Amino acid sequence: MSDSAAVPAITVNHRGAARLRGGHLWVYRSDLAPPAEVPPGALVHVRDRRGRKLGSALYSSASQITIRLLTSEEITEAQLPTLLRERIAGAVKFRQNIVRDSDSYRVIFSEADLLPGLIVDRYNDVFTMQALTQAFDRDDLRQTVIEALAEHFPECSLVERVDAHIRELEQLPERPSQLLRGDRSSTIFTMNAVRFHFDGLGGQKTGAFLDQRENYAAAARFGHGEALDCFTYQGGFALHLARVCEHVTGVDSSLPALQVAEQNEQLNRAAHRCGEIEWMEANAFDLLKDYATAGRQYDTIVLDPPAFAKTKRSLPTALRGYKELNLRALKMLRPSGVLVTCSCSFHVSEAEFLGMLGAAAADAGRRVRILEKRSQSDDHPVLLNVTETGYLKCIVVNVIQ
Ligand code: SAH
Repeated sequence: MSDSAAVPAITVNHRGAARLRGGHLWVYRSDLAPPAEVPPGALVHVRDRRGRKLGSALYSSASQITIRLLTSEEITEAQLPTLLRERIAGAVKFRQNIVRDSDSYRVIFSEADLLPGLIVDRYNDVFTMQALTQAFDRDDLRQTVIEALAEHFPECSLVERVDAHIRELEQLPERPSQLLRGDRSSTIFTMNAVRFHFDGLGGQKTGAFLDQRENYAAAARFGHGEALDCFTYQGGFALHLARVCEHVTGVDSSLPALQVAEQNEQLNRAAHRCGEIEWMEANAFDLLKDYATAGRQYDTIVLDPPAFAKTKRSLPTALRGYKELNLRALKMLRPSGVLVTCSCSFHVSEAEFLGMLGAAAADAGRRVRILEKRSQSDDHPVLLNVTETGYLKCIVVNVIQ
């Protein structure tokens, strides 16, 4: 497959071509002529209806996102590993310049590193790799990625993280999460001088939302007094707030997540000033309702729920959910209180999220000002023209009265 004649060509319609010329990397199945036999995960050349070249892409025989553009050049299969190695080197170098105060960050963020379909995260000395597409599940491309990471990080172990749902969507055979390189699948990692357990293979998987790393630091800058961290998971915001607050309550509906949060607390308690922390298993919606009705008050509240809007159609319901949470939280804040409120739903824009927050503040009868409009950490950059790469909103506000 080393000559260009072996690379299948795919013709995209006007809309698909316009999308690529507009800087996006994806073409949907509905925007291309049904291709003849193209192997799953193959490198393909993309042409418009008049035969004009649009570049080389990775093909999926299963996903609605049928092609993901790699380069505007037409390359051969033989040139593909070299291109991937260059892109990986670029991704690694980019993080060396921008990641501060952390041994953990996203090393490769798919489209935003022009490696569409590949995610690599670093947790101190353990790396995780996740293939989101048929192409990055190919044995030869996996090998290229594994070898490139080993060259850049010779001391580190590498774990493959499998998302069964994604593999099903891409029609890939089931595969267990496994150690691909080195001898460690668990470690302790540090963000902003706060320590966490990581276990890539254990029964209770641990890890972190690395995209919130800089928002944790922001929460610790503004947080004070008595704090409530709703949807705390393994304690990300709560443990950062404990550095500056007298008392922190971390709430989650998952007991296993809270058990890890408690272990994380133990890791930090000896090393730093740490306020009192209480971990509470509860439905955050019910708890906020009960506490608001009971007139409980806080100085700092964090809301970081799971994505409510998984599709565009669920947007109105999602906005109602966000409003309910934010309204109750705003009601419970003491004057000068701080709310750190997040949404990781791509389908909720920052403008819609701010609109929801404004309506919640008005209904709560509070005057609120914006301290910071934040997004995902710098190691999760947003690729301009691929808006799907930007999904996290984190708004920090304070209640004047
Ligand atoms: N803030 C966390 C990430 C939150 S992820 C961090 O920075 O690490 C979302 C969390 O919400 C998950 O831990 C999930 O268990 C929890 N969750 C989902 N629905 C919930 C509910 N109704 N009440 C409380 N927690 C919920």
